[in-house]
Amino acid sequence: MPELPEVHTIVQGINKSLLGYKILEVRDIKKKYNLLSQEDIDSKVINATIVSAERLAKQIVLNLDNQHSLSFHLAMTGKLLLREPGHPQDKAERLVLNLIYQNGARELRFCDTRLFGKVKILHSQEIEKSKNNFGLDPTTKEFNSKNFYNVIKSKNTSIKNLLMDQRKIAGLGNIYATDALWLANINPTTHTSQITKEQASKLLDSVISVLNEGIAHRGISMRDYVDLYGEKGSHQNHFKVYQQSHCSRCQCEIQTVRINGRATYFCPLCQPHKDKTLNKKISVN
Ligand SMILES: [Zn+2]
Repeated sequence: MPELPEVHTIVQGINKSLLGYKILEVRDIKKKYNLLSQEDIDSKVINATIVSAERLAKQIVLNLDNQHSLSFHLAMTGKLLLREPGHPQDKAERLVLNLIYQNGARELRFCDTRLFGKVKILHSQEIEKSKNNFGLDPTTKEFNSKNFYNVIKSKNTSIKNLLMDQRKIAGLGNIYATDALWLANINPTTHTSQITKEQASKLLDSVISVLNEGIAHRGISMRDYVDLYGEKGSHQNHFKVYQQSHCSRCQCEIQTVRINGRATYFCPLCQPHKDKTLNKKISVN
C-alpha cells in the first residue's frame, strides 16, 4: 500500500508535469462501480484547469481552478499514470482524464486492480475540513518533539500502533513505521505510556529520516506501486529491518511480531522490551 513517500512522489510528478492542463473529458471505464456521478463530472470537473496538487495524509489531491478538487486514494493497488494519447491501454483502468494544454494532449489514468481505491470530487471547504481528520504530518514544522511526545501520550496502545494511526500521525504505514522503530532502538510492542521524552525525540528523527530516504528513492515498488510516469521506486532495496533476516547493526536474527494483524520486524538485541517475556513471538494490539 502506498505510504507517504510514494504519494509524495506522485504529487511531485503532477506538480511538475500537469499544472495548467485543462480537463476535457472524464471517462469512467468501469461504470458499474459508479466511481463518480456524471452530473458531478459535468458540473465540477469538465473544462476545469489543474492549478496544483497536494498530499493529504495518503491522498492525492488535484486542485482545480473552480474551487473543486479531485481526490484520489490509491488504497492497495491504485495507480495514477500520465500517458500520451494512444498509449496502449493500461491494466485495470477505472477512470481516464483527457487533458489538454497549449495544443499538447495527455491522459491521466487511474488504474486499480482490486478496486479498493477511491476518487472523490470535493469543494475546497470540504478539503479544509477533512484536514481535521488527520494527525500530525511528518513533513510539516508542527511535527516537532513537543507535539510528537504529546501525540504519543494521547493514546494507550503500542508505539507501533500509534505510528500507524492516521488520526494521530498522517501518512505512515507498516514498513516505514517498522524501520523507524528499529532506527530509534525501540521495541514495537512498547506501550506508549512507557516511551520517554528522549525516546520520542529519537523516534521523531528516525521517522523523518526513513521518510526522507523513501522519498529520495522515489518510494517502494514491491508489488504494484509505480510513479506518475510508470517508473518503479527503489526503496525496497534499502529496508533497515523490514523483511530482513539479520540485523545490519548486530547480526542478530530478526524476529517478527504481529501487531494489529501486521507483520512487524524487530531486532531482539537492538530493540529489547523492558518486559523480557515479550521478547518472543507474541500477538498484541
Ligand atoms: Zn540488532
